[in-house]
Amino acid sequence: MITQSPEIASPAAPVSDPDPIVGGRVELQLLTTLKCNLKCTYCSLGVGEVLGSQTELKYDIDQLARFVDTHLKGKEVYVTFYGGEPTLNRAMMEAVMRRFPEFRFQLQTNGTLLDDLPDWVLAKLSNILVSIDGGEAITDGYRGRGIWRQVIANLDKVHGKVGGTITARVTWGNPDTTFEELDELASALEAIDYLYWQFVADEMYFGDSVDKRKAVLVKLIDKFFASTDTLYPLIPLMGMVRNKLLPNRGTELYAGLTQCRVSTHLINVMPNGQIYPCPDMMYAHHMQMGEIQGNWLKKSPLQPTPEMPCEGCEAFSWCRRNCMKNLWLGYVKKDERYRQNVVEPICELIRFMGREIDRHDPHAWFAKLSVPVRKRLTDNEVYEYVEIMP
Ligand code: SF4
Ligand code: SF4
Repeated sequence: MITQSPEIASPAAPVSDPDPIVGGRVELQLLTTLKCNLKCTYCSLGVGEVLGSQTELKYDIDQLARFVDTHLKGKEVYVTFYGGEPTLNRAMMEAVMRRFPEFRFQLQTNGTLLDDLPDWVLAKLSNILVSIDGGEAITDGYRGRGIWRQVIANLDKVHGKVGGTITARVTWGNPDTTFEELDELASALEAIDYLYWQFVADEMYFGDSVDKRKAVLVKLIDKFFASTDTLYPLIPLMGMVRNKLLPNRGTELYAGLTQCRVSTHLINVMPNGQIYPCPDMMYAHHMQMGEIQGNWLKKSPLQPTPEMPCEGCEAFSWCRRNCMKNLWLGYVKKDERYRQNVVEPICELIRFMGREIDRHDPHAWFAKLSVPVRKRLTDNEVYEYVEIMP
């Protein structure tokens, strides 16, 4: 039982939409706390001072069960424990895993406390997304001295006990991140099954930093297509190539909308019970789409608008509006500075990746893959746990 002080539903709870979730799956992202034991310099929860603002749950597990029964009945539900650092509220994680044993579970963590988790919890996790910034020097620069080694040691300790996979999640902020650092995470470290990166949503694209990233991307994409016996386990490349080869996969599970699922079937529950579509926009109160205590849920408000440029973009058929937060800030809120310094450089990098992929004739490459390698590319469960696009 989650014990912390439940609140009574607000008397003016809005009326729910009849079918707020698009499709048959839903990711229930539960923020167990907004506290964190690290202080990463670029943390997106720092915007609007969300980080650390809620340290106690304001709903209980019966209220959560009532919400699930009302709005998610008949759906394939998978839970992601998120934060802050979710393992700081292990009691909540364990209570949810016991109450909903048929759900699938994922943990998004900074990895520092992983070795404290009981074996039965590790065994029930289908995926662990562990945040890391690249190699040792860059990671320790953002997160604190010794963190890289601590996290890698923890991954080694738990890898054999985790039911599913371990995916390293890199926020590619530093333009000096090298191919070798990313390659080590993707292919050299035993305890990491997949590498996912996202381009940092911050003003870190000045001067030659876009070109530096392009030079690394060329090497990553070369290596991706160099083998047909094994798959180079880089999620954003896998996802892009899949979307190019089998465009239907990019649309059927997301109704043609963004591959991060915020427009269709991702709901983020804050510790206070409020629900938002995007975990990076919980400071924008007009984006609230539901509440556990009031037991209401509406469709995601984060939807394409005519101001967004995607439908005329060469990347649209496989990118499908990479990050709705970025598009919303840049083209709906019309934050010109953010558009020019963040959104446009990221879109340039995405289009560049698309052209580099095409240069390697992905259809001819795919034709040579064995059945198991093909399946790993086309039907990978990990796509359900990350944004797919960088
Ligand atoms: S690259 Fe940018 S503009 Fe093009 S589809 Fe993706 S998000 Fe939209
Ligand atoms: S990719 Fe999706 S979930 Fe991530 S910040 Fe952007 S809109 Fe939010």
